[in-house]
Amino acid sequence: MLKGWIPPDKGVLFVITGPSGVGKSTLIRASMARIPQLRFSVSATTRDIRKGEHDGVDYRFLARADFDKRVAAGDFLEHATVYERSYGTLRQPTAQALSTGASLILDIDAQGAAQVRKAGLPHVSIFLLPPSLDALEGRLRARGTDNDEIIACRMAQVGQQIEACGAFDYLVVNDHLTTAQATLDGILLAEMSRRNRRESLVQDMLGQLIRGSQRT
Ligand code: ADP
Ligand code: 5GP
Repeated sequence: MLKGWIPPDKGVLFVITGPSGVGKSTLIRASMARIPQLRFSVSATTRDIRKGEHDGVDYRFLARADFDKRVAAGDFLEHATVYERSYGTLRQPTAQALSTGASLILDIDAQGAAQVRKAGLPHVSIFLLPPSLDALEGRLRARGTDNDEIIACRMAQVGQQIEACGAFDYLVVNDHLTTAQATLDGILLAEMSRRNRRESLVQDMLGQLIRGSQRT
């Protein structure tokens, strides 16, 4: 954890998007281990659980009927069909996390990011790009979680994801992991350091000065 880091009063909603295998989960996990008050938005999905994943931690794994029921009930802030499965961000836990002042990371695809933008919710968007398509495919294979058919499906939709990057605030290339990590952490920390998100620090200090001057 970063020593002496004071989180903002008002949490920031971060949207992180990029093609499958670019390194979103790897980078987000490491940022969260370092930066206090940064939470991960646990999406709902109908895809199968992977080895090493935990229900309620990585995703809420829902049956198709349950997912559809929640769509009909308007429970999702955004939802989309990605790589032939349904994924969505639930409204309630998102609002709840932000109401506590925590910052929240949404790892969602380009369609979901467009819906968050359309909803007019203040947020900061970051697009992750691989150094090359070959490197991207290599990472999907090296991860060892998906079969050839799934990898082909994901690679077939890379263009659709990358074409959307023009609407994002930041573009981070995940070539060398340490460089990408430093860049991502820098963006997260800079956005959380915006003056208007830290009013209480100034007000507390001014209050101390006023109280001090009243005593003399
Ligand atoms: P995503 O969440 O975007 O689908 P992951 O975080 O699961 O991607 O990363 C896919 C694979 O690539 C993982 O095996 C991960 O360890 C690896 N990886 C991530 N970043 C890098 C990098 N900069 N260089 C090499 N391999 C990486
Ligand atoms: P994976 O199956 O590899 O975990 O994720 C596949 C893709 O779905 C990734 O691009 C990821 O960002 C996206 N995704 C995960 N959760 C959500 C979500 O809640 N909404 C949307 N729109 N996309 C999501």
